Amino acid sequence: MRITHDRGHRPRPAPIVIGRGPAAPEPGRVQVRPTDQPPEGATSPDARPRLSFAVPAARGKAPRHLADLDLRGRKAALKEAGLPAFRADQLSRHYFTRFTRDAADMTDLPAGLRDQLSAELLPDLIHKVRVLRADQGRTMKHLWELHDGVRVESVLMRYKDRTTLCVSSQAGCGMACPFCATGQMGLTRNLSAAEIVEQVRHAAQASAAGTLTDGPARLSNVVFMGMGEPMINYKNVVAALHRLIDPSPEGFGLSARAITVSTVGLVPLIRKLATEGMPVTLAVSLHAPDDELRDELIPVNSKWKVGELLDAAYDYFRATGRRVSIEYALIKDMNDHAWRAQRLADELCSRGRGWAHVNPIPLNPTPGSIWTCSEPDVQDLFVDTLRRAGITTTVRDTRGSDIEGACGQLATEVLHQERART
Ligand code: SAH
Repeated sequence: MRITHDRGHRPRPAPIVIGRGPAAPEPGRVQVRPTDQPPEGATSPDARPRLSFAVPAARGKAPRHLADLDLRGRKAALKEAGLPAFRADQLSRHYFTRFTRDAADMTDLPAGLRDQLSAELLPDLIHKVRVLRADQGRTMKHLWELHDGVRVESVLMRYKDRTTLCVSSQAGCGMACPFCATGQMGLTRNLSAAEIVEQVRHAAQASAAGTLTDGPARLSNVVFMGMGEPMINYKNVVAALHRLIDPSPEGFGLSARAITVSTVGLVPLIRKLATEGMPVTLAVSLHAPDDELRDELIPVNSKWKVGELLDAAYDYFRATGRRVSIEYALIKDMNDHAWRAQRLADELCSRGRGWAHVNPIPLNPTPGSIWTCSEPDVQDLFVDTLRRAGITTTVRDTRGSDIEGACGQLATEVLHQERART
């Protein structure tokens, strides 16, 4: 989730030193505002992406795929096509336990039927455009092209105790957060459930085949922290969650607790997710504990304020028993003040103890830009302030920063390269 574009040409604005008052209890600390410069990665200096909930009209739907349907739906689809419905079980096992969609691998199916079955339910949905490796081969980033030429990214990361895939749920994003590369693209379209699940199947297959350093691994975790706002694509995201969690042959049978859905804070949909009976982990991209700053940093805050959002997050914890992650990208002199750490701790503690943990995420240093990471001692003070207040706090390790590791960066970079070539 880091930005690596060189913004050295940008003049740094003179910092505004705010005097006394509720916004600046730390004497001498400056307050840089999100509006002091164009958004990160903006194509023109005047660019100001606007928050939009509108999903562009369907641009030719992705072909229907087994992973869009539950097992009953798959059987019905085969029956409708004049094919034996009971074969849906075998087809699903190949897909969800052997991670293959290749008819040639399905030797337990009659040879004459294999191609027909896979043509019906296993169309080719995503194609590799580029693969980048980092962290001694323990991180792999994929850029995918979908049936209509749209591109999305996913990142596979191997850790000591788990292997995690970060998936995209939309092509582009309409949430317009100024520090996020995807936020500058606007929304192209929602991904189908199967387009999300295909990213997972590829990762499961690659991990099992030993593509990552240290040999074969089981894909254990999935985080919806790639391109897009999962809550705007709610229906397909929930269908994809079922395919991830439901046991074989319905799905991959991953543990719900190993799956994280990250949102900017669409309060009614957080509340709805709590009723789906899938106790996935909720991550809230808070990034500021005060509405004054969050209104500018996370445009959706104009609709749902910090208080309402944290209420919904707390209720999510109560309904599911899952501790909520509060995501907090530390941006130099913008949101990294110790008083904000204290305010965040107060907001969390006023609702209860132990229900949330905070993940500060260092932004990548970008010389000359306002979108840069905090000084180490400032980050330490921020973290200590939270910990002293009893809040579990883990600084997020930033994988893949040398491969345009952040949300939307690789897609943007490859587009620039291709434009430069033509
Ligand atoms: N739309 C969802 C999920 C996608 S972004 C959401 O906002 O939660 C996943 C996480 O990466 C979010 O917490 C987002 O705020 C963060 N992120 C985006 N750009 C980043 C950057 N340049 N540095 C650090 N975190 C970033």
